[in-house]
Parts: sequence; C-alpha cells; structure tokens
Amino acid sequence: MAGEPQADCLFCKIVAGDVPATIVRETETTVAFRDINPQAPTHVLVIPKAHHPDAAALAVAEPQALADVLAETGRVAAEEKIDGTGYRVVFNTGSGAGQTVFHAHAHVLGGRGLNWPPG
Ligand code: 5GP
Ligand code: ZN
Repeated sequence: MAGEPQADCLFCKIVAGDVPATIVRETETTVAFRDINPQAPTHVLVIPKAHHPDAAALAVAEPQALADVLAETGRVAAEEKIDGTGYRVVFNTGSGAGQTVFHAHAHVLGGRGLNWPPG
C-alpha cells in the first residue's frame, strides 16, 4: 500500500532505525540526516517517514507530508546556519537525473557557492 514501509528500501530502514544515520532533526512525519557522501559542507537529506518513490508521488499521495519535508528543509538550513548565505533544495527524480534511492528525499546543500544552472 502507498506509504507503507518497503523491506528493500534503505531510507525506510533508516526511519526504522535498522540502518544507522547521523540524524539532525526528527518530527512526527519526517527525518533529517547527514548524507553519507556530502557534496557540500552542509548536505542533509530530509525524508518523509512514509515511503513514496519520489517527491511528486509524495505530493499526490500525502501533500501535507511534502509540506512537512519542505518546512524541515528551512529549519535544517537555519540550524546549520546556511539560511543567511543561501542554500539549495534538490529533489532528483528518476535515474537519469541522478536519483539512486527511490524513497522521496530533499537534499539540502549549502556552505559553499552554488552554481546555477546545476550540472
Ligand atoms: P539521490 O541520488 O537518490 O538523489 O540521493 C541519495 C543520497 O543518499 C545520495 O546523496 C547518497 O550519498 C545518500 N546515501 C546513500 N546511502 C546512504 C546511507 O546509507 N546513509 C546516508 N546517510 N546517506 C546515504
Ligand atoms: Zn522507503
């Protein structure tokens, strides 16, 4: 069923505590943790606890949970003190765009200059 934990999903395992992660924030509906392969001085992933394959699917199935994820990106940025200099929120969607984990997640990147358009 949409939203239910998936046994083969890495991020569902992080939500369940079965795979360790450096968690920076947690709410009733979201978890934020440091990316294992950071691409910037601050690189945090914010995920919904519910399993949905990408951000658009999350928006359709549970719009409030997507809003919670986005609100959390702002709180993470403030706590990491990158809100003043600016930060980027990225939802890679589809393998051609670099998505490797098919559980919706927002990348929060900051602490260095960020080129536009991204590569
Ligand atoms: P995607 O490529 O799907 O947009 O993002 C997946 C992200 O998850 C990548 O940036 C990758 O470094 C990160 N990642 C993959 N495996 C792990 C893990 O076991 N722990 C953590 N904290 N991050 C992971
Ligand atoms: Zn999942």
